[in-house]
Amino acid sequence: MSTGRLTIDLNAITENWRALDALSPSTVETAATVKADAYGLGIAPVARALAAAGARTFFIATAEEGAALREALGPSARIFVYGGHMAGDTDTIGDLGLVPMLNSIEQMTRHFESLPGLPFGVQLDSGMNRLGMEPAEWAAVRDITMRQGPQLVMSHLACADEPGHEMNRTQLANFHEMTRGLGVPLSISATGGTLLGPDYHFDMVRPGVGLYGGMPFEDAATVVRLSLPVIQVREVDAGEPVGYGNSWIADRPSRIATVSAGYADGVHRALAGKGIAMYHGATACPIVGRVSMDLITVDITDLDGDPQALDLLNTMQRIDDLADAAGTIGYEMLTALGPRYVRRYTSAAA
Ligand SMILES: *Cc1c(COP(=O)(O)O)cnc(C)c1O
Repeated sequence: MSTGRLTIDLNAITENWRALDALSPSTVETAATVKADAYGLGIAPVARALAAAGARTFFIATAEEGAALREALGPSARIFVYGGHMAGDTDTIGDLGLVPMLNSIEQMTRHFESLPGLPFGVQLDSGMNRLGMEPAEWAAVRDITMRQGPQLVMSHLACADEPGHEMNRTQLANFHEMTRGLGVPLSISATGGTLLGPDYHFDMVRPGVGLYGGMPFEDAATVVRLSLPVIQVREVDAGEPVGYGNSWIADRPSRIATVSAGYADGVHRALAGKGIAMYHGATACPIVGRVSMDLITVDITDLDGDPQALDLLNTMQRIDDLADAAGTIGYEMLTALGPRYVRRYTSAAA
């Protein structure tokens, strides 16, 4: 097999969902954010596993993402769309029974006129200035909107991955102010907010990245393992270079394994030279030289034999380790894991 193998542990995902669910009382619903193909891991198997574990409500970014999710989950799951009701989405929303989180007066008008009586939610901007209605807009349409009975009123935190950040309390206060007396279900928290504690739970939390083993959910079970095939092994003398730009020079006689994956597969070029290794079992073998589009070179001098494959992601080196080395976040690493990998799903008993 010449392409990498991405193994996705569905039990780890449901274990993470249960662990986040356990942080709030049973009166708080724990939904699941599965936008961007479940952060690149595959929306159908991931959503089905979460539904089997008890998740009833799912969030996606755009109405287009709803087709695969509705097909995977059947008619009973509730599917909210963060992007709301965009022009051109009316048929998709109506046919698939999606619930748009209306973000503006324009979207409200569109929804109430084109799909009267069909369910919707409302997204408020409590300070992030990205998506949702601002206080003045909301004040203008609040009464009309509440007469239509939104299923959920939500907002989103900008700094929830920094528990001490004063923005959290500011947004919380704004959200309380904007939702006082509404009497409908409320939600402000993704993974970060869920971890901030009960003040942030309201009626529903909607974690994404924590389900997939990413920060800020430090205690998450490891979800992804990435094993990459070795194409060739060569010997180089001390003083010989490896890869583009001669950026690495052997300081001893070395064995170099060339592995089949590169930045086109989400192995960022920026993580070379930052202490990232590939693993043979528990033995770390450093990546040397530059990461190419389809190839990575690894120093396997200290291994006894020539491995058939090396692991880039495992329980010792996780998605956020790669993200830190590349100067990005786990979210981006996950969603960049490319289409060339064979995705295998395991659900061995936890
Ligand atoms: C992506 C997203 C989430 C989930 O965020 P995580 O940090 O991955 O848990 C929740 N709410 C909104 C509005 C989002 O865009």
